[in-house]
Amino acid sequence: MTKQKPIAEGLFTWPAAQPALLGSRCNDCGIVSFPAAQSCMACSGQDVTVEELPRRGTLWTWTVQRFMPKAPYHSDETEQTFQPYGVGYVELPGGVRVEGRLTENDPAKLRIGMAMDVVFEPYRHEANGDEVIGFFFRPAA
Ligand SMILES: [Zn+2]
Repeated sequence: MTKQKPIAEGLFTWPAAQPALLGSRCNDCGIVSFPAAQSCMACSGQDVTVEELPRRGTLWTWTVQRFMPKAPYHSDETEQTFQPYGVGYVELPGGVRVEGRLTENDPAKLRIGMAMDVVFEPYRHEANGDEVIGFFFRPAA
């Protein structure tokens, strides 16, 4: 069976029945950061709590990446197989904006303010076949 592993430790809960992004909430000023950090980027407070972030937010801004990014971009794609992909910021309840890849790359199907769900899908494969799981935002049904 193919093994799966997260693209980075601490970015989201994995494995999990209901995976979620992980942010850090400052217990002094209440600001939530993603990815989770040891201290608050707003007030430098050290008293932070890691928590699961909401799974639905709204598209704050977006664009379509039409050429293959340079390293450290690392996917299964080559210059020949690269497909344009959407990328954007999704604002989650509470105000944190998360940059992420979108599952949709058709500008006609993307608009600022639309509801987006975070989903966790294979991003690339390791040489041994293991799947590396990343997070993406998908227009809510
Ligand atoms: Zn703070």
